[in-house]
Amino acid sequence: MPELPEVEVTRRSFADRIAGARVLHLQMGKPLRWPLGCAPEALAGRTVREVRRRGKYLLVDLDAGLLLVHLGMSGSLSFQDSPPPPGPHDHFDLVTSQGTLRLNDPRRFGALVHAPSEDSPVARKLLGGLGVEPLGPDFEPQVFHAGLRLRRAPVKQVLLAGDLVVGVGNIYASEALFLAGIRPTTRACRISLERATRLHAAIRQVLARAVEKGGSTLRDFSNAWGESGYFQLEAMVYDRAGEPCRVCSQSIRRLVQGQRATYYCATCQR
Ligand SMILES: [Zn+2]
Repeated sequence: MPELPEVEVTRRSFADRIAGARVLHLQMGKPLRWPLGCAPEALAGRTVREVRRRGKYLLVDLDAGLLLVHLGMSGSLSFQDSPPPPGPHDHFDLVTSQGTLRLNDPRRFGALVHAPSEDSPVARKLLGGLGVEPLGPDFEPQVFHAGLRLRRAPVKQVLLAGDLVVGVGNIYASEALFLAGIRPTTRACRISLERATRLHAAIRQVLARAVEKGGSTLRDFSNAWGESGYFQLEAMVYDRAGEPCRVCSQSIRRLVQGQRATYYCATCQR
């Protein structure tokens, strides 16, 4: 599943190239997770201002309204001058004066939604519950700690819930908790300010490093340049059950929390 770093890398791969482009037309394929919310023809003639990211949504700002794009479970975007005809897994083409933005999404959990503004009900429904951006200035240790204090759930599940800090998915949550030395099952409310501060730094570190490395943890991820060839993050714990911890050599353990696999080292994480 594309996580925040992959979405950010995707954004960077086409944001500059599409800025200032005029929308020629929008071609929709099979239905996606949610309806577009306007007639595709209504977008013709609009100008793309910029592409931002909020959580795992890409916000394509137009001179009137915006498009929210989500990659779902398996989506990837490409931006090409003259793409080949759409294949069976290509579900929209946003054809512009500067190239075509195309969503390829075999599982079709992705979405393209038009909203009249970021404050409109449709946009607020998707973006309203999101926590702060982990790489932004509002993600701050004391505030993060105060948020953890209010939650009794295991810290890993609090991270995944996304209402305290957004976009820390399963892989990065496991990795950040390892770096911070915190057991994933620890109740959020029991984490001290000192440990919360370490976790805060670890979250930033794993996400920033993944963005810097070009995205991904996913072998099949490709950015909007159509580049693939992806590396696995040098995971410390994720997907390493039974393998030796890179720090202490004890076997990495796996457990299931809220139907998601969690990996940790019982020696390094307390
Ligand atoms: Zn260890």
